[in-house]
Amino acid sequence: MFTSLRGRSVIVTGASKGIGRGIALRFGEVGCNVLVVSRKQAEADSVAAEIAEAGGSAKGFAADISRQADCGAMARAAIDHFGGIDILCANAGIFPAAKLGAMTEADFDAVINTNLKGTFLTVSACLPAMKARRNGRIVLTSSITGPITGYPGWSHYGASKAGQLGFMRTASIELAPYGITVNAVMPGNIATEGLDGMGADYIRKMEQSVPMRRLGSVNDIANAALFFATDEAAYITGQGIVVDGGQILPESLAALEEMDAA
Ligand code: NAP
Repeated sequence: MFTSLRGRSVIVTGASKGIGRGIALRFGEVGCNVLVVSRKQAEADSVAAEIAEAGGSAKGFAADISRQADCGAMARAAIDHFGGIDILCANAGIFPAAKLGAMTEADFDAVINTNLKGTFLTVSACLPAMKARRNGRIVLTSSITGPITGYPGWSHYGASKAGQLGFMRTASIELAPYGITVNAVMPGNIATEGLDGMGADYIRKMEQSVPMRRLGSVNDIANAALFFATDEAAYITGQGIVVDGGQILPESLAALEEMDAA
């Protein structure tokens, strides 16, 4: 049995939809106070209202996590509303596709600024509050794409997601003396609004390439984030957990076909 997280203060970035929304709802369900962050106030407010309707406590906050001033304001909002910051789920990310040759400097900068620099800015903004309490949980949303696998069109994205893990390893060493852990969830293909944008054909092919033959749900990722946030995970830091229905495991298409033949 895990110690209750009731009353803990949680920031979830990129929480207006997709995985972040799933994480925010899950932490709301277990009694945390959730700051729901996205660039659009109305959409963040709407998820906060969903949490409140389900009996939880939440507040929407508009911030662009690629901007330092916004991240500072976000951290102050959590402290003002909920009295501190216990848990940060740095989840906001973008995944526009562009193949090498067509990819512009602006394309590359946009992905790195949100996914990688945004991780640094978000974590940095929350650190003073966590260090003061000598306790904290930081959970990054990375990916299998970059750290483990590749996909055409996502060289910038893969670099940003692998970069998050490099950031995590040193951050976890630096922050260990303060009782702050830094870990990452590495999702496979998860059914979200963002993934819907990839089109029905992409989604069908992805389902076929997962041994469990389905995309992951946002709850699959939220549960892993929740585990990293527990008191019981206090001695786990600098680690990534793959949540992908076995997607990275088949060594070839033949392995999946062999499974179908059985
Ligand atoms: P999504 O459905 O497109 O949602 C992205 C969220 O991030 C939205 O709430 C968006 O809200 C917010 N956001 C984007 N840029 C932001 C910024 N600069 N500042 C603040 N918020 C920002 O995406 P998703 O599929 O849930 O993905 C979420 C995370 O999981 C990303 O880091 C992604 O790389 C990772 N991931 C996803 C999958 C997957 O299969 N879905 C797989 C592996 C990893 P606003 O537009 O209102 O700002």
